[in-house]
Amino acid sequence: MSKLYGGIEGGGTKFVCAVGTGPDDIRAEIRFPTTTPKETLAQAVDFFKGYGDLAAIGIACFGPLDPNPDSVTFGQILPTPKPGWTGADLVGAMRSAFDLPVGFDTDVNGAALGEYRWGAAQGLDTFIYLTIGTGIGGGAYVNGRLLHGLLHPEMGHIPLPHDLARDPYEGNCPFHKDCFEGLASGVAMEKRWGQPAGTLPADHPAWELEAHYIAHALASYVYTLSPQRIIIGGGVGQNESILKMVQQKVLVLLNGYVQSPAILENIRTYIVNPGLGNRSGVAGAIALAQLVDEEK
Ligand code: ZN
Repeated sequence: MSKLYGGIEGGGTKFVCAVGTGPDDIRAEIRFPTTTPKETLAQAVDFFKGYGDLAAIGIACFGPLDPNPDSVTFGQILPTPKPGWTGADLVGAMRSAFDLPVGFDTDVNGAALGEYRWGAAQGLDTFIYLTIGTGIGGGAYVNGRLLHGLLHPEMGHIPLPHDLARDPYEGNCPFHKDCFEGLASGVAMEKRWGQPAGTLPADHPAWELEAHYIAHALASYVYTLSPQRIIIGGGVGQNESILKMVQQKVLVLLNGYVQSPAILENIRTYIVNPGLGNRSGVAGAIALAQLVDEEK
């Protein structure tokens, strides 16, 4: 019988906790708003207390965070503009309630691992999972393992060419103003166009500009990490009008320089939406639990 795992998808506005063996076998799931760390983590603990036979717990959370098990701040949220959450100790909260291994990583690294195990990245050893929604973040799986390095990648904050004549919107990243996230997150779209991204019609010029920014970011990732595939999730990233435009613009930007059939002949299977759809997050948390259980 398959082992049962607990997964926490920690988001800026909501937490999702689940128990299961994988995305097709979620036995129970609960979601609640992200409030204070104390209250939010207590709700997660209460939920898992109903399941006595878990093998491990995985936490896939918004960052920045410390995913290094050898660090003194492992398991914590690093300085964040989100009120009250700087220093929140997610792994500590789970370890003090349960005698279980606890896996901990960014939401996007978790989602990448979930896509590797069950979704659109099966069989690959180097790929990227990017989410474009309220914020923008990217996880990377490189040479068969999740990429951490110093902390974890911050793909949402790379600088992009910003033509102020074409797009006078100054950008809304609190750290860099017009970085990728500052120009292309769902929040940036809403501020630029004066209405929520989800309500912009398919023929609105917003989508062409959005695809332009996403394609520039993707071209940089192709040049730097040489991914075998790029998976784009999130509410904006999974908008129907955008994927095809992004694929075509990436081809134009690369201009034939990266000589791989995966790009030159198969762009539609190179830049894709998640195989797990909106389940990437929870599946990622379960996958992180499995990983820490396998590595213990
Ligand atoms: Zn930024």
